[in-house]
Amino acid sequence: MKLSLVVPCYNEAENVKNFHDAVVTAFEGCGYDYEIVFIDDGSRDATLHNLKKLHAAQVCPVKVISFSRNFGKEAGLYAGLSHADGEYISLIDADLQQRPEIVRDMVAYLEENPDYDMVAAYQDRRGESKLLSFFKKAFYSVINRLSDVTLHNDASDFRTFRRSVAESILQLGEYHRFSKGIFAWVGYQTHFIPYTACERVAGTTKWSFRKLFNYAIDGIIGFSTKPLRIATYLGSMTAIAALIYLLVVVIQKLCVGIDIPGYATQIVLILFLGGMQLLCIGIIGEYVGRIFEQSKQRPVYLAKEVLTYEKSE
Ligand code: UDP
Ligand code: MG
Repeated sequence: MKLSLVVPCYNEAENVKNFHDAVVTAFEGCGYDYEIVFIDDGSRDATLHNLKKLHAAQVCPVKVISFSRNFGKEAGLYAGLSHADGEYISLIDADLQQRPEIVRDMVAYLEENPDYDMVAAYQDRRGESKLLSFFKKAFYSVINRLSDVTLHNDASDFRTFRRSVAESILQLGEYHRFSKGIFAWVGYQTHFIPYTACERVAGTTKWSFRKLFNYAIDGIIGFSTKPLRIATYLGSMTAIAALIYLLVVVIQKLCVGIDIPGYATQIVLILFLGGMQLLCIGIIGEYVGRIFEQSKQRPVYLAKEVLTYEKSE
C-alpha cells in the first residue's frame, strides 16, 4: 500500500523543510510506503531550491514538479494528482496549518471502512473575523441554493481519498478549477471530520479578501447556470412592471392629463434599468468569458521541470 501526499507550494521556502520533517516524523513506523509530491507553483523565493535539496537528500521519496509561473493552487493540485501514484492520495498545505498526523488517521479510517472513498476535513471556526465568517456563510448558502452540487460548509481541500476518486477528478480537465465543487461533483462516499487549523509556521496567507471574492464567483459560475435564469427573470419582471406603468400613464393622460413634472421618476427608472442591464450583461459576460477560456484549450499548467525518484521495487 502506498500513500501520496500532494503539496502545493507558493513562496513557502521557510516551510517546506519543516513540512517534510513533520511528515517523516508522523509516518514513522506506519507500515506502508508514502511519497511527497511537491508542486512549486512558480514561487519567487527559494522554495524550488529547498525542494531540490529535499529531493536530493532522499530521506523519503520526494517528487518535485515546478511550474513555469504561478498558476494557482488549483492547478497545483491538478498537477500533483496526475503525478501521484499511491493507492491513497492526500491533499495538504505546505504551511503546517494542517497536521500530517491527521492524514495518518484519515488513511486508517479508509482502511477500516471500505464503504467510504474519501475523508474530508472541515475547519472548526478558526479565529477569523466576523465579517469573513459572514461572507463565507453567505457564499455557501448562495452556492448550495444555486448549483446542482451541495458543498459541505467549511469543507477544505484537506482530504484523503482513494485512487478511483483521483482518477475521476483528473477526468475533469476544466480550465477554471474550483476544487470544492469538483469534489462534490464527482460524488463518492465522503466522511467528514472536524479539524482545527494551526497557525501558519512561517510566511503569510496568499488569500486576500478580493481573491476570496473572485474564488467565490468562480465557484458559483462554474457549477451553475442559474444566474442566467435569474437574469431572464429580472428582465421579464421589469418588462411586466414597465407595461403596467405604461397603462397607468396612458389612463392618466386620457383622464386627467399629465403635468410636466416627472423628473424624479425618470431619473430613478433610467438608473434602475441601466443598472439592471449592466448586471445582466455582466452575468452573461462571466459565462462567455469562461467559454472563451475553455475554447482555447490551454493546459491547466506548464511544468518546466519534474523530478521523480527511482522506484525501489
Ligand atoms: N498556494 C499555491 N499557489 C498559490 C497560492 C497558494 O500553491 O497561488 C499554496 C500555498 O503554498 C499553501 C496552500 O496553497 O501550501 C494554501 O495557501 P494559504 O496557506 O495561503 O491559504 P490559507 O491556508 O490561508 O487558506
Ligand atoms: Mg495556509
